[in-house]
Amino acid sequence: MKAVMKHAPGNGNVAVMDTAEPACGVNQVKVEVAFCGVCGTDIHVLHDTFRNYPPVILGHEFAGTIVEVGKDASGVALGDHVTVLGATAVTCGKCVYCRSGRFMFCPIRRGMGHGVNGAFARYAVVRPDQIFRLPEGFGLDEASLSEPFAAAVQAVCELTPVRIGDTALVSGPGPIGLLCLKLLVAEGIKTIVAGAPGDTARLEAARAMGAAAIVNVGETNLLEAVKEQTGGMGVDTAFECAGHPDSVRGCLDALRPMGRYTQVAISGREIQFPIDRLIFKQLNMVGSLCYTERTWDRVMKIYAQGKVRLGDLITAKFPIAEWSAGFDLCVEKKALKVLLYPEA
Ligand SMILES: [Zn+2]
Ligand SMILES: [Zn+2]
Repeated sequence: MKAVMKHAPGNGNVAVMDTAEPACGVNQVKVEVAFCGVCGTDIHVLHDTFRNYPPVILGHEFAGTIVEVGKDASGVALGDHVTVLGATAVTCGKCVYCRSGRFMFCPIRRGMGHGVNGAFARYAVVRPDQIFRLPEGFGLDEASLSEPFAAAVQAVCELTPVRIGDTALVSGPGPIGLLCLKLLVAEGIKTIVAGAPGDTARLEAARAMGAAAIVNVGETNLLEAVKEQTGGMGVDTAFECAGHPDSVRGCLDALRPMGRYTQVAISGREIQFPIDRLIFKQLNMVGSLCYTERTWDRVMKIYAQGKVRLGDLITAKFPIAEWSAGFDLCVEKKALKVLLYPEA
């Protein structure tokens, strides 16, 4: 089968290659990939700024159909429409984090798409416990956004207390920021979305998705806009989804005393900020890394209840042969989510 592979260590070294179709072993399930989303992590693997273990097939945000069920694999059936938790591909199962469901911190963990083969290919083979069955009628294209959506669900629904009547700030209108916005809107939270001058189209998308106000910080003072929206109080919660120094400081300024700051974006650099804000406003600051399996269970319930749909985040679909055009659209911020699909 054709697959987008990192074939050697270092910067670059990604190409569409012919590789053996994976065999479905004991306690394994073979999934025919319908769509696999391009994620910032894939671009980091391309440039070797995220750990990777070549030769490896890229891609970890996918959904598809079960086409083979291996011996002893239970709870799954041929023809099921599913999405896959790729991050648990390799864990020890024994450490304190694995035993408490916090597999992200397992010292030997390897995820699909960089640690083991991912899903920019026709087939992927996984364990049944990585499979989440989609509710009837939920599209395989929007279901391929489950992995970034789960990250937003942990940040908004599990780690940040949000209550109707609150005002939230989402700073950074990339895919994760917009997924956080969708959840906040579904929970009835008045949400301000802030972005940089290059984010005009993404801010318009935020408005269409239910933002109460959008702020282009190149044109409008964020603090003034926040005061206007909150009667001078400041926001109750801020979700930092840009990973930019100005955004971090903007969130700290925008919060009211006793507010909650949740760091969702990875910035990849050191950021200077006035740490005294934490004391003088007695802020709660928390980081949110990915999700747990329980988060994915919640994602399936959110899909089933139908209050949040994800299709409007998908701006382009490419066959895997055109992976680099898809990657470029993401790097240039010309797309929200780009999906790749295997060719017939
Ligand atoms: Zn991802
Ligand atoms: Zn472990």
